[in-house]
Amino acid sequence: MQKVIIIRYSELFLKGKNKGYFERAFFTNIERALKGYAHTLRRPVGRYIVADFKEEETEKIMRALKKVFGAHTLAVGYETSSKADDIFEAAKRVCAASGTFKVEAHRGDKKYPLTSIEIAREIGGRLLSANPDLTVDVHTPECVVRVDIRENGEALVCGEEAEGAGGMPVGTGGKGLLLLSGGIDSPVAGHMMAKRGMKVDCLHFHSYPYTNEQAKEKVKDLAKILSAYTQGTKLSVVSVTHIQEAIHEKCAPELMITLLRRFMYRIAERRAKTIGAQCLITGESLGQVASQTIEGITSSNAVVTLPVLRPLIGFDKNEIIDRSVKMGAYETSILPFEDCCTVFLPDFPAIRPKLSFIEEEEKKLDVEGLVTEALSSTEIFSF
Ligand code: ATP
Ligand code: MG
Repeated sequence: MQKVIIIRYSELFLKGKNKGYFERAFFTNIERALKGYAHTLRRPVGRYIVADFKEEETEKIMRALKKVFGAHTLAVGYETSSKADDIFEAAKRVCAASGTFKVEAHRGDKKYPLTSIEIAREIGGRLLSANPDLTVDVHTPECVVRVDIRENGEALVCGEEAEGAGGMPVGTGGKGLLLLSGGIDSPVAGHMMAKRGMKVDCLHFHSYPYTNEQAKEKVKDLAKILSAYTQGTKLSVVSVTHIQEAIHEKCAPELMITLLRRFMYRIAERRAKTIGAQCLITGESLGQVASQTIEGITSSNAVVTLPVLRPLIGFDKNEIIDRSVKMGAYETSILPFEDCCTVFLPDFPAIRPKLSFIEEEEKKLDVEGLVTEALSSTEIFSF
């Protein structure tokens, strides 16, 4: 009998011709999540089995696996021979010590001498007579013992199944470039796209020396947190200091944020093309701040041709915060920090700026020169 972790995947992504492709991506992603832990990974029909790990690392391994998109459920259990005596030994280990329970059996091997119902009855009966503190409840049991008879003369036995991360394996949904600030929203936006299978790299803008070194460290910490879900990520960091100075010097003060955001989008698109990303991702949510009105979004969107994905567009702040807490980014996101958007902030930012006015003001700047210069400041960090 061997202790194992049983990973079941969402059946949905297995429909169609791409099955092999999805399964291989999922396999690679599980391997990456388990890097540093002794283990073996196998892929029998319909599930993935992690074995040969250190007993004391079980919890840590489960935590790492819960971040792998594509997993439907995860369960710690046992792999045994399909002999009733062996199944019973494993069932004893995964069953609760007292309370109500039921046995659920599934037969992959249709030649097995007992039917699913007979297996459940046999193992359930043995558990009952071995432990007087157990009673059977087939409708709302406190504990379910799952027995899975496989084709190769083996069986998998497990108790409680934990919820997996759901979604699709990262790497099967293209590649996006996330505009990562130090706030709450953008890490959540990246997490949501990774859940749909998208590989996510990150881009951060700073205005050193107006923003400090800690702000950059904080963004690196956020990229690291995100990287556990995105199967690693590359963070590019670009200085927009000279752009902000030029806008401050030459343009209408109420357009500072509007113009800066147009520069951010332009730089992001150029960077995306360099790294082979097919879209931009932002943490914008409609109406959250002055620059996130539909007019504000239109004005930044107008300078790029790549699609801009905004997974949070219809979310309230508290919904975003819930997700931030769940993904483990919240504590880092709320650390005090100065974003480049808050440098040279006007008293009254334009809420619904006219595109003609924006374009007129922008003519006062060497847009191409400033973009190229900013890109030349790119630093890259890998997580
Ligand atoms: P967040 O919580 O993600 O910082 P926010 O509510 O502060 O968002 P804004 O500051 O208007 O909103 O930013 C909107 C989006 O623009 C962010 O979600 C992010 O995608 C991008 N963004 C803003 N500032 C930066 C920055 N310094 N570097 C990279 N992207 C940024
Ligand atoms: Mg912000």
